Amino acid sequence: MSHYFYQPEYFSKFRCLGGECPVSCCDGWNVYWTKAEVAKLKGAEMPDELRKMIEDNFELTTKGIPETVTDEQDKEQYVIRLCDDKRCPFHERGTDLCMIQRSIGEENFGVVCGLYPRRRFMMQDNGIISSCSSSCPAVLKLLLHDKRAAKMESIPITTVREIQAVHTDAERKAAPAYLKFRKDLIEYYSYVFTSDITFEEAMLMGAIAAHNFSDPRNQNDLPQCVDIIRKEVGVKDVHRITDKIAPVYMSKYNIALSLLYKLSGKEKDFLPVDISVMSDGEKFDTEKYLEGKEKFLEKLPGGDRGLKNIAMNMFLDIFVHIDMSEYSFFAFYLYFSACMAAVALLAYTAGYANENTEADFIASVSLFSRSVSHSSAYIKPTLEYLEKYGTETVNNVASFIK
Ligand code: SF4
Repeated sequence: MSHYFYQPEYFSKFRCLGGECPVSCCDGWNVYWTKAEVAKLKGAEMPDELRKMIEDNFELTTKGIPETVTDEQDKEQYVIRLCDDKRCPFHERGTDLCMIQRSIGEENFGVVCGLYPRRRFMMQDNGIISSCSSSCPAVLKLLLHDKRAAKMESIPITTVREIQAVHTDAERKAAPAYLKFRKDLIEYYSYVFTSDITFEEAMLMGAIAAHNFSDPRNQNDLPQCVDIIRKEVGVKDVHRITDKIAPVYMSKYNIALSLLYKLSGKEKDFLPVDISVMSDGEKFDTEKYLEGKEKFLEKLPGGDRGLKNIAMNMFLDIFVHIDMSEYSFFAFYLYFSACMAAVALLAYTAGYANENTEADFIASVSLFSRSVSHSSAYIKPTLEYLEKYGTETVNNVASFIK
């Protein structure tokens, strides 16, 4: 059984935007259905036209099956054959609605179609953490407008289902690292939520910590770095410290981002999509950054809390499911700081470059998140987006090709 269950407050408020969605999730991805799900679908009452489409567009494949599957029956699954323009054939042109859902209801969906953007992570100590993907515009809207949206709440476990636990109870108790993981995640979350430090102060604090961490003299001395961050977060006059390294935003950003990749093992030199509009090669334009920031925050009700929410969600979205049991509060803080750096650049670039700031920001975070964590199929629409706003550069193209 599970030992705890946490989810952000926005999780239960999520509603799909349907035909109003600017970047529908029904296109560009390989969507897999199990044999049992397709059998159930084919068994439903439906118009002949839809039945024929189902016969024509579900294809058996061995792709996407984990190597651990040994049962011959489960070594094949179905994938929906995408149209030439990579659109799902059931994604109706004109209405932008799903034909299967509209005709016979979502109770006939495969798990993948019904689940996105929700995610549930079974942690190594048998706890569960839920969140929604930052690539969905409906999720981003909730995170921007509801101050408490990313606050974690503890959900009472009312139904106990038999699940295959990763560790037995005895093993779990023998592994203090797992208990520490849970404690640190919650401590980290409550720190970020209850503290009155601003979005940017939090990012700068993380950068200071990252800077200390990236100093070779400190790498074997993590406790000292933890002490630094703990001491600094207790200081009200945070500007006293952050001003010392402001306004070198690019270096803070680089430190935070390279640390993020170092810890996650991801591609080291991948740059967020819009960064080039804020820089000229290596030189970062602080004035443009500040102008973009002002314009963005002017249009965002509730100040920068929405950005903090999105950074926290990105952190959950991309990193929590990686085995982080050996990391600490400090490491979480650095991850979060790097996510903040990416979100700040996307937000303030949208503020600087575009008139309709919020919609542009949502589109850029959504595409960035899809390109990084879902599928390379999103590289093309992301480049089209950049081109539309005149922010495509050789740098961006190169980083996407990488
Ligand atoms: S991306 Fe989100 S809002 Fe858009 S269609 Fe998918 S679930 Fe709905």
